[in-house]
Amino acid sequence: MATRARSPLALVLVVLAGAVLLVVAVSMLRGSSDDREQAASERAPGPLLAAIQTDDRAGFEAAFASDADERRISLLWDNLRELDVIALTPTAQEQAWQVVWRVPGESGVASHQVSPRWSCGPLRCELADIVQQPGMPAPLWLTGPISVHRAGAVAVIGGPDADQWLSPAARAAEQLSQTPSAVALLRPGALQVIEVPADADAFAQVLAQPALEFRGAGAITWTASSGGEVPTSEQVTSRIVVNPDATAGLTDGQRQSLMLHEQTHAATSWLAAPAAGRQWVSEGLAEWVRLRHPVADDSYPAAQPGGCVTGSVPADADFQGLGDTTDAYRWSEAAIGQIMSRPDATAVVQRLWRDPAEPLPALTSCG
Ligand SMILES: [Zn+2]
Repeated sequence: MATRARSPLALVLVVLAGAVLLVVAVSMLRGSSDDREQAASERAPGPLLAAIQTDDRAGFEAAFASDADERRISLLWDNLRELDVIALTPTAQEQAWQVVWRVPGESGVASHQVSPRWSCGPLRCELADIVQQPGMPAPLWLTGPISVHRAGAVAVIGGPDADQWLSPAARAAEQLSQTPSAVALLRPGALQVIEVPADADAFAQVLAQPALEFRGAGAITWTASSGGEVPTSEQVTSRIVVNPDATAGLTDGQRQSLMLHEQTHAATSWLAAPAAGRQWVSEGLAEWVRLRHPVADDSYPAAQPGGCVTGSVPADADFQGLGDTTDAYRWSEAAIGQIMSRPDATAVVQRLWRDPAEPLPALTSCG
């Protein structure tokens, strides 16, 4: 009776207040799990991939947070619309995305892990940017504005200076196809992609290594993958990455010469990496093909055709040193040159490439 006399209104207010508190508490408890669910779906890269694949710029922009950097979104859009993005999926840890992509016409794919950056408000997180996954090779289109240039069997992608590689690379591809004695060893792809990073920083991001590690190398031929599965119908391709600092002063002929060496590596990637101790077989073949096709101005590195061999078989490390690798390349080119004059050259090169126990054939020595 006393409570009723005191005031039903007060009781109602107390009950209401209690209910509000309960609702707040429940929503706080449930809120964290709802946010997690919402975040997981909001963070799925599906809408972004759909927008790229359907050339839907508005959808692409809508996949980013409203406060994301517009110039950055434009850069990514302009870059990606020149490329085919085949898959974009969260990795197992969900902190990274795996992106599988190619230059239109390329027979294989590149596979990279990239890191989405999130802009999180009280209710949900939105995509702010996509950046290099720490320690992982970055796709070139993440490092700055790129464009795609094509000629013949090559495509060059990169920054503002990339197109100067197009004619030399196309001529090198032509020469590669005109190396009849090595034709059984050379299997170039339908379209060889050459990546030209804008500067040393972009080069270092693409290789996930300090540019200094490669200061002696004009270009690198490598498998364009930072791990993860690619769709079963696809194969990871060999790409050539130009070292911008090491090649800044090259003539057109020197670029062509360098491209021929690297395209030989790419066209022999079907043999996989040489067995331990047999790096010289791969380097010797690349040099031998290169020197079958002299260029008008000086070649790069300087042409030093052998014939006879001097000294002993170079170790794998002799090609990676920051010191002088001339002797190692010269020996290898001379040895491959002698082997290529044999009627069973293709079989011998393959056995030497793959089997570290395969005995070295007798070679003519200079001294
Ligand atoms: Zn090489």
